[in-house]
Amino acid sequence: MTGKPLPHKAEVVIVGGGVVGLALAGFLAEGGREVALFDAGGPAGSTANAGSLHVQMQSRFLRMYPEQVPALESGLHLYPKAVDFWHDLERKLGADFGMKMTGGLMVAETDDQLDFLRKKAARERALGLDSEILERNDLNRVAPYIGPAIVGAELCANEGKLNPLQANAAIRSWALARGAAIFDSVAVSALVPDGSEIAVETASGKLGARQVVIAAAYGSRSLLEPFGYKLAIEAEPLHVNITERAAPFIGHLVQHAERPITLKQFASGHVVIGGGWPANLGHGRGFPTVELASIIGNATLAQHIVPTVSNLHIIRTWAGVNTPTDGKSILGPVEGVPGLFVAIPGDAGYTLGPLCASLVADCVLGRTPAEDLVPYSPARFRKDNAARPSAL
Ligand SMILES: Cc1cc2nc3c(=O)[nH]c(=O)nc-3n(C[C@H](O)[C@H](O)[C@H](O)COP(=O)(O)OP(=O)(O)OC[C@H]3O[C@@H](n4cnc5c(N)ncnc54)[C@H](O)[C@@H]3O)c2cc1C
Repeated sequence: MTGKPLPHKAEVVIVGGGVVGLALAGFLAEGGREVALFDAGGPAGSTANAGSLHVQMQSRFLRMYPEQVPALESGLHLYPKAVDFWHDLERKLGADFGMKMTGGLMVAETDDQLDFLRKKAARERALGLDSEILERNDLNRVAPYIGPAIVGAELCANEGKLNPLQANAAIRSWALARGAAIFDSVAVSALVPDGSEIAVETASGKLGARQVVIAAAYGSRSLLEPFGYKLAIEAEPLHVNITERAAPFIGHLVQHAERPITLKQFASGHVVIGGGWPANLGHGRGFPTVELASIIGNATLAQHIVPTVSNLHIIRTWAGVNTPTDGKSILGPVEGVPGLFVAIPGDAGYTLGPLCASLVADCVLGRTPAEDLVPYSPARFRKDNAARPSAL
């Protein structure tokens, strides 16, 4: 819809057309709102996505941000709910997201790593997750494709995978069919309260909206700063490799206890290898580029864990921008700015995306969300709130 003239008004404007913005557009249009969604056309985590549905805590996150673990744990119960929500959404849309719920393995190469996983699994079970430890003998039975370097693993039953290309397209089509207007390649430059409305400023013109939801991931910070909010979010460029098709041989979503990797085989037969290898955002082009070291490092680690991967050609690599938060999602109304809302998912934000969108849609529609959103409120980032402890 690029080039389509902007309306003068919309009941609700959504800023950002990743999985969160698109799902919001569908839920709000379904709730009877007249919706206009603007996407800058910048790099999105949702379109670069590796398709993992995460439930157990990712070791990459635990290693990189140990100080955020209490916040992550406080929102851990959202992950199994978010995976169930994906199932419900697939059914509701009558779409095929390529979802497979085969469980997720986090593998260990040393006794120390397996010990780390034992403690992690015990902690996760106490928080309500379905996790167990598999010794090597069990692994031979459950996942014979795992290579000899691995001594054991944590199995989390309700993890899985989907194909983001299929899911994103289906959610977008659903939002459009419900009447949402989507404006691609139109960046929102500012939001200005104007009487009972918020003026939404773009390079293509300005429109008034009764309500605005900022679902712009890394792009959200600059939009909220003028209101006295300093979101603790970063743009993190990440790398993904994908192989040619092969007959099914990898059942699970596979991660490592200490090293950055997510590995899975789509229903199409392609093996997708991601998990946190860096890309480069430093060339000033506004989009991330791949690094040779990440292509090689990521593929080498994959074949170390699953040796059969070495028989496959890598057919494509890409990079995308992730948006780490302070360990928790940022969801709900913006205090002090009537009609303004935020929807930014926490770690593994694609997994959380549709659930987060639905919770914020409930706020916008004046319904009580199924989750208490106070712990996720953007209020923790108010500059004049620095002394107030964040609610976990
Ligand atoms: C390579 C990679 C692989 C990943 N793999 C997984 C995975 O397997 N599983 C998982 O759970 N998570 C994964 N993630 C994380 C996940 O993709 C994101 O957390 C999630 O998609 C965020 O969704 P979103 O809709 O909030 O934001 P995004 O998908 O990032 O979309 C934000 C959108 O906002 C737009 N925007 C920004 N500023 C403006 C503005 N001013 N005006 C208008 N539009 C604007 C951008 O153009 C962009 O399209 C991955 C991330 C990356 C980078």
